[in-house]
Amino acid sequence: MSYHVFFSMSAGFSPGMAMTVPEGTAEACRAHVADVERELGFEATRYKASAPTWGGMRVKDGVTDEVLCRVADDHNGWVRYLYKQLEEWSSADWSKPPKRGVKTEVLTSETGMTFWAGLHEIIVPPERWTRGYYRRRMEHLYNVMRGLESEGQTFAGEALTPKQAGAVIHAFEPFLGERHQLDLEVPNGLDELRSSYDGGYYWCTGCGPVAWEDWEDEEDEPSETCPGCRAKKKGAEEDA
Ligand SMILES: [Zn+2]
Repeated sequence: MSYHVFFSMSAGFSPGMAMTVPEGTAEACRAHVADVERELGFEATRYKASAPTWGGMRVKDGVTDEVLCRVADDHNGWVRYLYKQLEEWSSADWSKPPKRGVKTEVLTSETGMTFWAGLHEIIVPPERWTRGYYRRRMEHLYNVMRGLESEGQTFAGEALTPKQAGAVIHAFEPFLGERHQLDLEVPNGLDELRSSYDGGYYWCTGCGPVAWEDWEDEEDEPSETCPGCRAKKKGAEEDA
C-alpha cells in the first residue's frame, strides 16, 4: 500500500509561512481539534520549540468503542478534507473569480501551531473496532485492492479481481473481524463486499456466495443451492 502525498504540512507551516485561507479557517480548526481532545481526552504537548503533538493518543478511560470509532471516523475524514482544501488554497488566486470577494485571513506558522496536534489521523486498534467500523475499514481496503484510490491510499501493485480482493478480506477476518460475524464476501458476479449478517447474500452449496436478489427458494422450503445451480442440476438430470 502507498499513500498519496497530501499537501505537505511540514513544508507549508515552515517558519515565516503566510498562507491566504477563507476567513474563520483557523478558528474552525481549533474548535474541531478541541472537540476531539474533549471527547477522547487527548492532550497537545509540546517539546521545546517543536510542533505540538497528541503524543501517544492515549484515549481516556470511560470512552466507549462506539464513541472512539465515531470520533476517529469523523476526525480522519476532516483531516483528509482539510489537507485537500489547503492544497487548493495554497495555489488559489484570490484576486480572480471564483475566489474574488471571498473574505480571507492569513494563516501563519504561529496560528497553525494552535491546532497542529490534530492534523493526524487517529488509529483505532482492531480490538476496539465496532462492527460498523470494521466493515468500513474492510470496504476501504477492498476498494484499494481493486485499484481505486480510497482515503488517499492506493494499491502498490496490479489491482486484484473482485474475487481475489474478497479472498484477502476473508483471509484476515479471523484476526480483525471474527467477533463481528459479518462474514464478508463478494457475491458471484458482483464487485462489492456483502455480509450474510444483514442478508446481503446467501450461501449456495454449489457455487458459493450468491446475492440475495439473485436467489429464490423452492416453493415452500429454503433451498441449499441457488436457482442457477438448481437449473443446471435439472438440465443434467433431464439429459441423463
Ligand atoms: Zn449456486
